[in-house]
Amino acid sequence: MTINILNLPSLNIIDMTESEDDYRFLVETTSPSPSYCPKCGTVPNLYKHGKKKQLFFDLPMHAKRVGIYVKRQRYKCRECNVTFFEHLPDMDESRSITRRLIKK
Ligand SMILES: [Zn+2]
Repeated sequence: MTINILNLPSLNIIDMTESEDDYRFLVETTSPSPSYCPKCGTVPNLYKHGKKKQLFFDLPMHAKRVGIYVKRQRYKCRECNVTFFEHLPDMDESRSITRRLIKK
């Protein structure tokens, strides 16, 4: 899909499904890999450690609910063994919604 109708530049839309009441997007981030470990601060000794789909809700479009499934990359640090998810700048993780939904 070339047009990012979500208008969230940090996300790349892989798929979209539409039902009577919902839009469901499947996305990946466009962010680069993290440059250091958030726990021990070591310069990259990180490796990719699987992906997990997480659902976030966004502003309604055309009177339908919008859900965004993020295929989120998980990393593991070789130095301290901590695992962590890539950063999602557009999402409020504690509430599982997009930040722009809060501003409304
Ligand atoms: Zn570490």
